[in-house]
Amino acid sequence: MHDSSANQDSDIWQEARERMVENQIRMRGINDLRILDAMRRVPREEFVSPDQKIFACNDCALPIDCNQTISQPYTVAYMCAAAQLTGNENVLEVGCGSGYGAAVLSLLAREVHTVERIPELVQQASERLQRLGYFNVQVYSADGNLGVPQAAPFDAIIVTAGAKSLPKPYLNQLKEGGRIIIPIGTEFTGQTMCRFTLKNGKLSEEDLGAFTFVPLIGEFGWPT
Ligand code: SAH
Repeated sequence: MHDSSANQDSDIWQEARERMVENQIRMRGINDLRILDAMRRVPREEFVSPDQKIFACNDCALPIDCNQTISQPYTVAYMCAAAQLTGNENVLEVGCGSGYGAAVLSLLAREVHTVERIPELVQQASERLQRLGYFNVQVYSADGNLGVPQAAPFDAIIVTAGAKSLPKPYLNQLKEGGRIIIPIGTEFTGQTMCRFTLKNGKLSEEDLGAFTFVPLIGEFGWPT
C-alpha cells in the first residue's frame, strides 16, 4: 500500500469539509441529506486562491480575484435549500464568481447555467469546473440582469449578488412552479433573502432573512 502526500492532503480536506458541514450547516438546521452530501463532496479548497486555501472551510465568505467573494458555506447551502431542488431541474445561477455555488448546484440538479459579468472570473471558473469534472455546468460571460434566455425556462433562478429589485427578464424565464432566490436590499439595510414562486401564473414572495452579498451590477442592482 502506498500513501502519497497528495492522498494525505485530500484526507485532511475531506475531514475539514465534514466538520464544515456538521458545525456550520447541519447544526444550523439544514437537514436535506442531498445538500449535506453535495457540500461534503465539492472540494471548496479548489475554488479559492492558494493564499486563501487554509481558510477555505471557515465559516465566512472569502475574497476571490477581481474584488469579488466566494459565499460563506452556510449561505450556499441555505440558497440551495430555499430552491427546493429534487435532482431533475434546469437551474440558472446569476453570479458565477469562483464557480463553487455552481458546482454544488450541479450535484443537486440536472443542469446548471451560470452567468458572470467579469470575463477573468468566467475564464477561471470554466477551467476549474471542467478540470474538476462538473460537466453539467455551462458558464456564460454576460450581464446576469438579463437572465440567460437561450437556456430558459428554468425551475430555479439563484442570484448570488445583492439586487435592488427583482430583474424583470427573469419572469419570462421561469417555469410554472419555479422559484427565484434573490437577496434584495438597499445600500443601508443590507439584503433580505427573498423567494419568489410562480404559481398559476402569479408570483408570490416570501422573506427568508438577512444576508450580506457583493452588489449585483447593472439595471436591477448598482452602478459599476
Ligand atoms: N456564486 C459565487 C459567488 C460569487 S459573488 C461563488 O460561489 O463563488 C457574486 C458574483 O456576482 C461576482 O463574481 C460578481 O462579479 C457577479 N456579478 C455581479 N453583478 C453581475 C451581473 N450583472 N451579471 C453577472 N454577474 C454579476
